[in-house]
Amino acid sequence: MQLRIPGPTPIPPEILNVLSRQMINHRGPQFAELIQGMTAILKQMFQTKGDVLILTGSGTGGMEAAIVNTLSPGDKVLVVSNGAFGERFADIAEGFGAQVERLRFEWGSPVDPETVRQALARDPGVKAVLVTHNETSTGVTNDLASISAVVKEFEKLLLVDAISGLGAIDLPTDAWGCDVVVTGSQKGWMVPPGLAMVSVSEKAWQAQAEARMPKYYWDFAKAKKILDEKGQTPWTPAISMFFALAAALELFQQEGLQNILARHARVGNKAREVVKSLGLPLFPEDNCASNTVTAVRAPEGLDVKRLLGILRKEHDVVLAGGQQRLEGKIFRIGHLGYVAEEDMEVVGQALRIALPQAGFVGAR
Ligand SMILES: *Cc1c(COP(=O)(O)O)cnc(C)c1O
Repeated sequence: MQLRIPGPTPIPPEILNVLSRQMINHRGPQFAELIQGMTAILKQMFQTKGDVLILTGSGTGGMEAAIVNTLSPGDKVLVVSNGAFGERFADIAEGFGAQVERLRFEWGSPVDPETVRQALARDPGVKAVLVTHNETSTGVTNDLASISAVVKEFEKLLLVDAISGLGAIDLPTDAWGCDVVVTGSQKGWMVPPGLAMVSVSEKAWQAQAEARMPKYYWDFAKAKKILDEKGQTPWTPAISMFFALAAALELFQQEGLQNILARHARVGNKAREVVKSLGLPLFPEDNCASNTVTAVRAPEGLDVKRLLGILRKEHDVVLAGGQQRLEGKIFRIGHLGYVAEEDMEVVGQALRIALPQAGFVGAR
């Protein structure tokens, strides 16, 4: 099967194998060695000298953790949003009592750093800026280098949802001054769902010491203390997923971060080429199209639901539809993690046959 949704993503055999391993004591020396080795490699992947914590939970849990560990009820936050996941970041902050300003951009367009600058200049009371690096719902990668430069100009805390980007799209955490960066195991990491990995900067730790939002399971201070002192996690971790992530990190080390990023750039290019060669329009503007997920605008006449059904049943190719207001208007091809250019050709061949059957009478 070609599972080409933006997570969960396919798992290579080397990683599938370790998922059948027997349990180990999460309070014993084997686990300590495992988590310490993993944390060291994760820091390379995050390009940080700061802390990286591995949390048991999905990506959204990591987003919640980023918020509750750095903010207090009543804090003003600017949430920069150009899609469904930006809105989710804002919803979580609001749920925990932050005073949220949503700086919204068109879905399919990138965040404009200059508009972020104006918003921060207007409101000096903002404590933190929340931003999505790679907006999975629209296939847009935001210019985080420029956005973070603006946020740092104003010396605000910067929380980044990089769930579908990290490990596939360049994000030098320290160089860009990102205070908390969140990712999730089922996206670019070639691991089943179940882990969220987060980096925590020095500035984020200072905020952590003062943050008063309610938290227990997600408490970063508890996680850091027991990691540093004992090589453990505060609560029982998803041990099998730790095995899988450890195996993935080994593969990443063999391939090398720069090569991984370059591969995703090539695959992203290939995906866009394939889409255009079929006469289909991309949903995002070309200069911000993501290298991990390609969103395709459904042209007049194309029944997206029918298309996805035909692809799945007759070609064993699974693509994603649009979320929320984009349902029926776009479909999405995930190309992150265990993926190569040839996979996009397979998707293209299936699309070429299925598109006319789903009502698209293309130009080509
Ligand atoms: C997948 C995703 C999430 C949600 O992660 P879950 O693991 O489903 O909780 C959040 N943000 C982005 C950008 C994502 O791609």
